[in-house]
Amino acid sequence: MELLFATKNRNKLLEVQAFAGEQIKITGLDSTGFDKDIPENEPTLEGNASAKSWYVFKLTGKNCFADDTGLEIETLGGKPGVHSARYGGIKKNDMANREKVLSELVNESNRKARFRTVISLIINGKEKLFEGAVYGKIIDEPRGDKGFGYDPIFIPNGYDKTFAEMELDEKNRISHRTDAVKKLIEYLQDEVIG
Ligand code: IMP
Repeated sequence: MELLFATKNRNKLLEVQAFAGEQIKITGLDSTGFDKDIPENEPTLEGNASAKSWYVFKLTGKNCFADDTGLEIETLGGKPGVHSARYGGIKKNDMANREKVLSELVNESNRKARFRTVISLIINGKEKLFEGAVYGKIIDEPRGDKGFGYDPIFIPNGYDKTFAEMELDEKNRISHRTDAVKKLIEYLQDEVIG
């Protein structure tokens, strides 16, 4: 079967393709000549993932899926959450985002956090949601230079290094996105391909 991933991010596409196996051919938006900006204005991860996949489905008519991810910090009531990409005020400025989070956690002993990914899949006009998460804690100061986003300040449970101190394949074995993508692929293999 063929499935369109509503992303222009090549790394995400490669990550998902690695799990998909031979029966599922996943393509990204770049290869289809899709040049529109996909709106991301909903107040929840579920809402954004859903809005993105419906938007692409309506324009292309193709079975597709979209994802949305956020860092959710317990003591901040789940923030930055759906606002993770621009929490520091400027869109996609990772350092500003991390600094804002760290400044809000000064003298805070509850450092519990999770990354959560939601995937919205649309098959033949019907939607199904999948969720993946990785639990851990936010440290006081950034460590490591790999990865992106909040990786340098997040240590997953059971580890003593941050995501930014891990090789990509080590992070990808346990990450929120992997968890969600595996559930998507399992569903496709069991329920759609059969
Ligand atoms: P997106 O929905 O995948 O674009 O993620 C939204 C924002 O969440 C990104 O801009 C990052 O700030 C943050 N984020 C998502 N995934 C990760 C990750 O694996 N590590 C660190 N930060 C992430």
